[in-house]
Formats: sequence, C-alpha cells, structure tokens
Amino acid sequence: MGRAPSRQPAGLCDSCRHQKLVPNTRGSVFSLCERSRTDPAFPRYPRLPVAECPGFEPPVSSQK
Ligand code: SF4
Repeated sequence: MGRAPSRQPAGLCDSCRHQKLVPNTRGSVFSLCERSRTDPAFPRYPRLPVAECPGFEPPVSSQK
C-alpha cells in the first residue's frame, strides 16, 4: 500500500471555490489559488493554513 499523498490543511482554502489541489512529483499536494489567475493580488500558492482571505467564496454548489 502506498502512502496517501501528504497535504497540510489549507484552512479557509479547503472550503473555497477557488482552491485547486495540485499534486507534485514528490507525493505532496499543494493548494493552488485560482483567483491568482485573474487577480494578481492573490498568490498562486498562499501560505497555509489560510486563516482569513478577502477572496474567499464558498463553493457554487456541491456537485455529486
Ligand atoms: S481565494 Fe483565498 S481562500 Fe480562496 S483559495 Fe484563494 S487564497 Fe484560498
């Protein structure tokens, strides 16, 4: 059994619609902020865990 990808809690990002989880080649998963694509005020990889963020938005809907 392989180890599950290690990932540190991303705080607010974990419940934000702009989060994208990106695995790297070393088995870690990074929390990418997709807001950074349209707004340079947001870092692509914010320092985790994010405690508060002016860009936070809840998911549009839970897709099943
Ligand atoms: S907008 Fe803020 S809370 Fe949402 S993913 Fe980006 S940094 Fe995280």
